[in-house]
Amino acid sequence: MKKTAKAYGAKSATADLEPMTIERRELQATDVNIDILYCGVCHSDIHTVRNDWKGSTYPVIPGHEIIGRVTEVGPNVNNFKVGDLVGVGCMVDSCQSCNSCQHDLEQFCENGATFTYNSPDKHLGGQTYGGYTTSVVCDQEFVLRVPENIDPKGAAPLLCAGITTWSPLRHWKVKKGDKVGVIGLGGLGHMGVKFANALGAHVVMITTSPDKADDAERLGAHEVLISKDQDAMKAHANSFDFILNTIPVGHEMDPYLSLLKIDATMVLVGAIENMREFHGGSLVMGRKRVAGSLIGGIKETQEMLDFCGEHNIVSDIEVIDMQNINEAYERVTKNDVKYRFVIDMASLK
Ligand code: NAP
Ligand code: ZN
Repeated sequence: MKKTAKAYGAKSATADLEPMTIERRELQATDVNIDILYCGVCHSDIHTVRNDWKGSTYPVIPGHEIIGRVTEVGPNVNNFKVGDLVGVGCMVDSCQSCNSCQHDLEQFCENGATFTYNSPDKHLGGQTYGGYTTSVVCDQEFVLRVPENIDPKGAAPLLCAGITTWSPLRHWKVKKGDKVGVIGLGGLGHMGVKFANALGAHVVMITTSPDKADDAERLGAHEVLISKDQDAMKAHANSFDFILNTIPVGHEMDPYLSLLKIDATMVLVGAIENMREFHGGSLVMGRKRVAGSLIGGIKETQEMLDFCGEHNIVSDIEVIDMQNINEAYERVTKNDVKYRFVIDMASLK
């Protein structure tokens, strides 16, 4: 039987989020029903609600940093049982057969991955609804196992902010002693700092906010570079092995490219929109590279969660009630969050 769930969503790009009731599909053979305990608030939720990327269909029910407990499993579920602590990230389905899926890169599914919200819903029609709700039904292949030894509230942001920063650090093989820059100390950036530190890199937090310097060091940065300070930027020129750029909007890239060593790469994960023009010389002079990265595959997400279990890594969070979501959105937009809001879903039940 289809179930209903309480939710919060937006009816248009200019509307506040408000209470709604949504349907969840009947449990299929390989489905898991999850009672949601916590859901992180990603800047992508806000971009989607505000239609910044132009593809939003309303109502939008955001949320792709989901932590919960399994309450029911379909007859063919073999990976999970009732009571397990689990997570759902940015994807809930993919074709499982294309070249990308076979290589554990479901996020690049050639037939189109089904994202957790605002993606065509194959079962119910319409759009998928995310984690700002009391429950979710998900195929077991897209459910992650969450280590029981880490705080489940702080684990929620690992499902997006965590994997989005972990994946490029691993793909570009960041290693002990590398000089790694993380640009932007927000939800993604603070996880980037923690992971780069845990991988043994010399971590430099590159920020527009001098008042975040102490926090950056507490989180694992060895140095802080204020990007508006041109002398400091010059002092770090041509010295970075790798830079992870989490700035959420289009921006001038030349100042950051000047920081890279010969053959080094800057990976964009934030600005999923037009970047400002950059000077070809910024790449040519030093054979430098700019690349992009999108979340990570399911296997890699599980590896990241296991690493967090072993190293006791979670996000630094501020817990809110569902009813305070609109204020939280305003604060993220004003760059006033330390460093991720997480909704306590008990407030909606
Ligand atoms: P966030 O918490 O708002 O953090 C972004 C940080 O960027 C801010 O804290 C700020 O740090 C810095 N910043 C903001 N505006 C800036 C500007 N105009 N110029 C320079 N720096 C600026 O956002 P988030 O949740 O980490 O997400 C970051 C971006 O990644 C968003 O666009 C989101 O949609 C995207 N995202 C991408 C993926 C992916 O798979 N590629 C996954 C998740 C999210 P400082 O104060 O330190 O400067
Ligand atoms: Zn996200």
